[in-house]
Amino acid sequence: MDTPKIRDGLSYDDVLIQPQRSSVTSRSEVDLSVELAPDLELSLPITGAAMDTVTETDLAIALAEEGGLGVVHRFLPPAEQADMVGRVSDKGLQAAGSVGIADGFHARAQALTDADAAAIVADVAHGHMDRCLDVVSDLAGSFDRPLVAGNVATGQGAVDLARAGADCVKVGVGPGSHCTTRRVAGAGVPQLTAVLDAVEALADDDADASVIADGGIQSSGGIAKALVAGADAVMLGGLLSGTAEAPGVVVDRDEGKYKISRGMASQEANEERTDRDLEIGASEGVAGLTPYRGELSDVVGELAAGVRSGFSYCGGRTISEARDGAVFVKVSPGAKEREGAHGGVLVRGNWLSVVQSAWLDPSWFASHSIVLFQETFCVPWRLCCEPSDSVSVSVGKFLFQFGP
Ligand code: 5GP
Repeated sequence: MDTPKIRDGLSYDDVLIQPQRSSVTSRSEVDLSVELAPDLELSLPITGAAMDTVTETDLAIALAEEGGLGVVHRFLPPAEQADMVGRVSDKGLQAAGSVGIADGFHARAQALTDADAAAIVADVAHGHMDRCLDVVSDLAGSFDRPLVAGNVATGQGAVDLARAGADCVKVGVGPGSHCTTRRVAGAGVPQLTAVLDAVEALADDDADASVIADGGIQSSGGIAKALVAGADAVMLGGLLSGTAEAPGVVVDRDEGKYKISRGMASQEANEERTDRDLEIGASEGVAGLTPYRGELSDVVGELAAGVRSGFSYCGGRTISEARDGAVFVKVSPGAKEREGAHGGVLVRGNWLSVVQSAWLDPSWFASHSIVLFQETFCVPWRLCCEPSDSVSVSVGKFLFQFGP
């Protein structure tokens, strides 16, 4: 028996973009527009995840107004999904809709086409399945719409989807903020490596397909890294789920405002799904609360400004210029500790108390400022479960326990 090969894999946080000589003097000189398919152009390379706590009509409209593209989820009857897409198209804006691989995908794609969807997105947890490739070929042959397909995490997966007829391949198995696939199934590829592999394999195959990097983006820096790695656009779930336009009401708690968000393979979502691909035994997603972030235009405006700034460090006025001669530097664990607001850890919310673990030196608190934590995405939804829960979070070499 051959033993499995072992490869190295990197996530966004494992690298930084090496600055280059740059003639860009202002962020406003940077143009982030991209063509995902011949009839699918975006002025902002951000797409909204096909999740029922992320993309429905309001978010799709707000994102399209900023130049991005919302992908309306498929966890509702086809007519309702098509109606949501149609309401965006009626305003002269672009929205896409997702389809699965269960029976009925054809009728759903037809309804989306009738609603003038800007693209059909074949959206499957494991897009490198024979059944998914068959569905992609069928959709490519039947509908005259840009076709996005995923998700895959390897070069071969990307090439097979492109050969099956996808105009754009969605990359990401397991990096999502609400995803537990890597823990539950033990499968996946760290996202930066997955994107680099997909882009390289598509180029080697002379495939005319673009790439969306889906999942695991927690900041504008992550978007810049994905684009420099060769993705043409990113897909955001968690980062958009806290915006005013995301579905669901704002939950007001003593410690702040939140919106409910959930992974589409979470047990909570599975119980309600009308469009299941497979009987899912183990859940591969979680539900929780995401800090409320206000209007989408502000959130996305800040992300775009960060990406423009990132490109100015690479000397790129466009996405392809930013990639030209780009170098990623692998960050050592020691260097990682110096990243971000490394003066300390911020704790907010009066029900949270920091309990030092036995091995944490109390003098650390004396020498570091206590700064905000809960509002960053490194402490995710779990913190926001029930105030009575206690939660452990490790930050570098420190372990914090939050509890009542
Ligand atoms: P995020 O931007 O939140 O990090 O990632 C969003 C992506 O996570 C989605 O576009 C989708 O591909 C993926 N995703 C959403 N829900 C689930 C889930 O329940 N399980 C898994 N494995 N992935 C999910």
